[in-house]
Amino acid sequence: MNTSITEGTPNILDLVQTGVDTPTTITVDGYFYLVDFGENVHPRVHRVGKNGKCTCYLGQHCPAVDEVADHLEDGGERSPYPPAGYYPMLPACCPICGADVQLDTTLSSRKRGVGWRCANGGSLHYWQRMTDALRISRETNSWAIPPVVDDDWIVYPGVHRDGIVTDANNPYTFRDGYNPNF
Ligand SMILES: [Zn+2]
Ligand SMILES: [Zn+2]
Repeated sequence: MNTSITEGTPNILDLVQTGVDTPTTITVDGYFYLVDFGENVHPRVHRVGKNGKCTCYLGQHCPAVDEVADHLEDGGERSPYPPAGYYPMLPACCPICGADVQLDTTLSSRKRGVGWRCANGGSLHYWQRMTDALRISRETNSWAIPPVVDDDWIVYPGVHRDGIVTDANNPYTFRDGYNPNF
C-alpha cells in the first residue's frame, strides 16, 4: 500500500506501518476504552470495545487495541461488563458457535444494543444468545446490583458478582485464547 505521510502529522495507519511507539493516555468511557495518542496522531482519540476492536476503520488492527491490552496487563482500569443480552458493540465472534459475525441493524434495539448475525447460524444464533442470556440472568442473577443503561450511556455501571462470568454467560468469548478478560 502506498500511503503518503503528510507533513508532521502521521495518521494512525502510518503508526502501524512504522511501528513507532507513541505514548498514550487510556481512560474508560462507558463500555469502551478511549485511547488518546496525543495531538501528533490523526485521528487522535480512538475508541476500543471489549470485542478487541477499535471503532476506527482499522478495527482489530488498530494500534489502540494493543495499547488497551498493555493497559489491562499492567492492571489498568477495566471497562464494566455489559448486562447479559445487551451488546454495546459487536461481539468478537458468535458466542454460540464461534463463527464470524456481521452487523445487522434490523436486530439492533435500545434494549439489546447492536444487532448482529452469525456467518453460520444467521439471526438464529443471535436469538439463541438472547434467550440464553434471559434464562441465565433469571437463574443466576449475576448482578449484585444491576446496571442502569440508557442507550449507549451508562447511568450506573452496577456491581457484578465476580467469578460468575463464565464461558456460559460471558457475551464476549474469543477464539484462539485471545485475551478473555478484555
Ligand atoms: Zn483506531
Ligand atoms: Zn453462530
